[in-house]
Amino acid sequence: MTRNSPLLERAVDACAVAAKFCDDVDRQSRFPTESMQALKDARLMGVMIPRELGGESASLRDIADLCAQLGQNCASTAMVYAMHQIKVSSVVSHGADHAWHRAFMACIASQQLLLGSSTTEGGGIGGDLGNSICAVERDGDEFTLRKDATVISYATQCDAILVTARRAPDAPGSDQVMATVLKGQYTLEKTAEWDTLGMRGTCSEGFILDARAPVDQIMPLPFAEIAARSMLATAHLLWGALWYGIAANAVSRAQAYIRADARKKPGQVPIGAVRVAEASNMLQLMRSSLNAGMERFEKAQLANDDLNSMSFAIDMCNLKIGTSRLLTDIVNQSMMVCGINGYKNGGPYSLGRHMRDAMSAPLMINNDRIFGNTSNMLLVHRLDQRLAG
Ligand SMILES: Cc1cc2nc3c(=O)[nH]c(=O)nc-3n(C[C@H](O)[C@H](O)[C@H](O)COP(=O)(O)OP(=O)(O)OC[C@H]3O[C@@H](n4cnc5c(N)ncnc54)[C@H](O)[C@@H]3O)c2cc1C
Repeated sequence: MTRNSPLLERAVDACAVAAKFCDDVDRQSRFPTESMQALKDARLMGVMIPRELGGESASLRDIADLCAQLGQNCASTAMVYAMHQIKVSSVVSHGADHAWHRAFMACIASQQLLLGSSTTEGGGIGGDLGNSICAVERDGDEFTLRKDATVISYATQCDAILVTARRAPDAPGSDQVMATVLKGQYTLEKTAEWDTLGMRGTCSEGFILDARAPVDQIMPLPFAEIAARSMLATAHLLWGALWYGIAANAVSRAQAYIRADARKKPGQVPIGAVRVAEASNMLQLMRSSLNAGMERFEKAQLANDDLNSMSFAIDMCNLKIGTSRLLTDIVNQSMMVCGINGYKNGGPYSLGRHMRDAMSAPLMINNDRIFGNTSNMLLVHRLDQRLAG
């Protein structure tokens, strides 16, 4: 019998709550309040924070496992949890030597805070997270910031938002910082609804974000380094993990459908059985590339040069593109197996929500944009052709 990690054991109740409310969350396009509360009750929000600051020093691998498990039950809950952990990882990776960020980490762990993210911006920036129009304006010990944030997930439910902006009003678009603003330090004026095909529970509405906060809350490291050294990898690994959860659940529904069909017609192999085999093959590819990606990141973390290298950036971009494509293929394949029972909402073989949630994956930082970035790097970078790497 396979044993769950201790973190997964603690998440069993939250997963059950997520499964119970996922259709309602999806139908009403509402925040998954019940499952997020269950995650807080199990004290799973601050697990990545170092032990000496009240956390549990959990590894990214364990968090990814948890995201995959949540993804099997409610993709929106899994995405909210993953986005929160991506922000926590930036603070853990780059705030350890900074007094304000150490105190903030202790608060995340003790108060089970939920962190949001604001990188996307209007005015043509979109998902180009290496550029900003808005800028931090220093005013003594404080700074102000006004951002046309066209997408911020669960902005009204979170306790703090990590915002990217230019370092100063006269800085170029790519000279960015990342600042944390706490609830009470910002106002949000809603500019866009979130009535989408899928991932409806992330409540990723648009806002004008206006903030004033102490300058201590600006991360000391330039944002470009935060992105290269932790955020991109963490985001692609945790998104990939929860997408794996959606895919695994779709395949298990298709497999259950085929088994039931086979029982009805003894002696005959249902036509869809081969598609289930093919879907399980793609699922294995997805799992292998996520595990290999995790190993790649763990190795790169031991060598700064590697973390900043083109080869690492290309690997992490390819991981996102590959897992998002496999997800949509797997859900499509599972839908073909379940047929009309997959197409109908509500039944045990229903796959409509999986399909709608999956469609966000290639668009969440558009795969074409990512291909654009890797194609530029591949003009100068030599591919490693060794099998073992
Ligand atoms: C579920 C979900 C939750 C999200 N939550 C958040 C959040 O909490 N905070 C946040 O900040 N953002 C969030 N986002 C937004 C996300 O981070 C991206 O900003 C968003 O998906 C837009 O990405 P994009 O600009 O690449 O794509 P789009 O706005 O869709 O634009 C891409 C278009 O431009 C084309 N294109 C490709 N390359 C380039 C290029 N180099 N330059 C210009 N155009 C190009 C593409 O082909 C495509 O047609 C969320 C998105 C989703 C789906």
